[in-house]
Amino acid sequence: MTMQSTLDFLPLRLPETVQRLRSEVRAFIQSEITAGSFDPDLPETDWQVHKAFARKVAARGWIGMTWPRQYGGQERSFLERFVVNEEMLVANAPNFVYFTADRQSGPTLIKYASERIKSELLPKIIAGEACFCIGMSEPDSGSDLFAAKCKATRAAGGWRINGSKIWTTNAHNADYMIGLFRTSPPSADNRRHGLTSFLVDMHAPGITCNLIDQMSGIRDFNEVVFDDVFIPDDQLIGEVDGAWKQATTELAYERSGPERFLETFTALRSMVALAGTAPDARLAEATGRLVAELHALRRMSVSVAGMLQAGREPVAEAAIVKDLGTIWEQELPQRVRDATAFMPFDADGYERFERNLHFMLRIAPKLTIQGGTTEILRGVIARGLGLR
Ligand SMILES: Cc1cc2nc3c(=O)[nH]c(=O)nc-3n(C[C@H](O)[C@H](O)[C@H](O)COP(=O)(O)OP(=O)(O)OC[C@H]3O[C@@H](n4cnc5c(N)ncnc54)[C@H](O)[C@@H]3O)c2cc1C
Repeated sequence: MTMQSTLDFLPLRLPETVQRLRSEVRAFIQSEITAGSFDPDLPETDWQVHKAFARKVAARGWIGMTWPRQYGGQERSFLERFVVNEEMLVANAPNFVYFTADRQSGPTLIKYASERIKSELLPKIIAGEACFCIGMSEPDSGSDLFAAKCKATRAAGGWRINGSKIWTTNAHNADYMIGLFRTSPPSADNRRHGLTSFLVDMHAPGITCNLIDQMSGIRDFNEVVFDDVFIPDDQLIGEVDGAWKQATTELAYERSGPERFLETFTALRSMVALAGTAPDARLAEATGRLVAELHALRRMSVSVAGMLQAGREPVAEAAIVKDLGTIWEQELPQRVRDATAFMPFDADGYERFERNLHFMLRIAPKLTIQGGTTEILRGVIARGLGLR
């Protein structure tokens, strides 16, 4: 077995125009925080806040900004999208309405959906009016996606779905799901054969969303049960039985963005704010180290965005960003706790800092599971290196 050196993190500097866009986004977010639209140090759970925020972001033209003009997009670059996304994440902005659709459901529809679906739904997403969820995992099929059992069977004019999906983030609020369903058994020579992607209207009769409790106190994912749910023929996404051929690029988009190292970032930001301008040696050392690591991760993520922009498929590089990035963001709250161990409890702003840190400590375990576990990513990287 020989290792191939196919990994390529081409260095990239964000162009001046992109940096100008960053300032615009930052100013918008600051004005929203000042106006009391959301609190960057607290997780936003009120769905109405997410909805109102989505409309404002849409009005700025920052949803679906890379998509074709014919569907309401602006054909801007992935690098511009990158900075908008990055600024929103750093500020903990309430982006749940459009985040999934903007990142992956929209691009999937553009590539594989019928013309009716594209012209109807893409403008709705761009307007901040259509929320999507991802229906892949099932009770006995997570990492091994190709073991999915939730069935779609032929019916007059379409398909009927029966079975269940699990861990579906935001399904209870979503208008649509792009889901993976079993339409045939696997074939003798290809166990990935037999799964098909469909667009599901989450308001269709026969769908029940059961919320699942999480240790963080947040309830944002679900078991979704389908009881004879009808899907019209033109909601087929891509090829019948051939969904496995469609997955790789989508995963490169899903795995390399700044959301893969910034979910607990507020712990670092609030530590720096609390420390003020004269941190003790322990805090200063920790801050320097964390910022240096973050900088390296960010450069890798920007590089992947540049490669996507250039039309390449940096699947292994994206998996590396997620592997390193999610471990970093997972360890961050604990490292912040260690660095602030000698902070006086009555320091100005300490209570707020601590509340945020407690939350970040509780969400940390999930970060290396969502979107593909660390072990699975390492398999992808090994494949990219020609080792399996
Ligand atoms: C917060 C959160 C949000 C999520 N949102 C969604 C969503 O919106 N939609 C959706 O479809 N899913 C979602 N998921 C599900 C997620 O994709 C799965 O949990 C994940 O893919 C792992 O699958 P599993 O839980 O079945 O674990 P399993 O696949 O059973 O894995 C259990 C353990 O075995 C390891 N393992 C499994 N196979 C291998 C292998 N071949 N080699 C080495 N190790 C292996 C895994 O790494 C893991 O440590 C979400 C999960 C979380 C935590």
